[in-house]
Amino acid sequence: MSRLGDRIALVTGAGSGLGRATAKLFAAEGAHVYVTDIDGGAAETVVRDIRGTGASAQAITADVSRGSDVTAMFRAVGAAHGRLDVLVNNAGLNVRGDFRHLSDAEWVKIREVNLDGVVRVARDGFALLRASGRGSLINIASIMGHRGLRQLVAYSATKGALLALTRGLAVEYAPFAVRVNALAPGFVETALTQRALRNPGIQRALLESTPLRRFGLPEEIAKAALFFASDDASYVTGAELAVDGGMSASL
Ligand code: NAD
Repeated sequence: MSRLGDRIALVTGAGSGLGRATAKLFAAEGAHVYVTDIDGGAAETVVRDIRGTGASAQAITADVSRGSDVTAMFRAVGAAHGRLDVLVNNAGLNVRGDFRHLSDAEWVKIREVNLDGVVRVARDGFALLRASGRGSLINIASIMGHRGLRQLVAYSATKGALLALTRGLAVEYAPFAVRVNALAPGFVETALTQRALRNPGIQRALLESTPLRRFGLPEEIAKAALFFASDDASYVTGAELAVDGGMSASL
């Protein structure tokens, strides 16, 4: 039986990586999926793939760091369905480098997407999630919200804030039957991480601190998102699920 039959879902940053895998899995589980991304061509490609399997999806080009794009995105969903059942705040980026050399422009760039964009989507998507009567908001955080690593300090700061946001929103949205949860993935090879994870030194160090001794697959993160999206998690809100091969549990 499909686990998201009749659901309307929207995934930001769904043109690539974890968002793409999540959009595909949700569609395979019966949801109508809005595949949104700043890269409209990438979103269209994902939609073509989904439709090719007989499932249902449509693309929206939206930059989460632009208020007008986010307003238009939710307006389109509202006009078509009047509600949104599952909203995945996935769009994110990284700016690598030593923190002491971080420029104001670099900090603004990462903050505008990973934090301001997530806040905007969580706030402006609320009315449609409330209209669902069983809304699920899922924030894609990171193990880096809990751990420190050289050159990822600014990224860590945005992901730590995202975890705090998740807890606060879970409390505030609960009276409206909107659940809010976060995933904290470990390391998964995507466009975001490919260069670092293929560096032999970094790869060795990260795998040594991952008990399962391998990186994750985008589909493995998507399955955890499916849990939060579905009725299986009907009593779960304010939670954080580590999907990291045991990395956060290990010394
Ligand atoms: P990715 O680069 O493969 O995909 C990110 C997608 O977001 C891209 O399609 C990109 O076009 C889109 N995007 C970027 N800026 C955007 C914006 N302003 N508005 C809308 N879309 C935008 O990266 P990924 O690894 O799939 O990362 C997805 C999320 O997962 C991010 O939030 C990332 O921080 C998080 N994450 C990834 C990993 C990992 O190891 N890959 C681990 C933990 C958390």
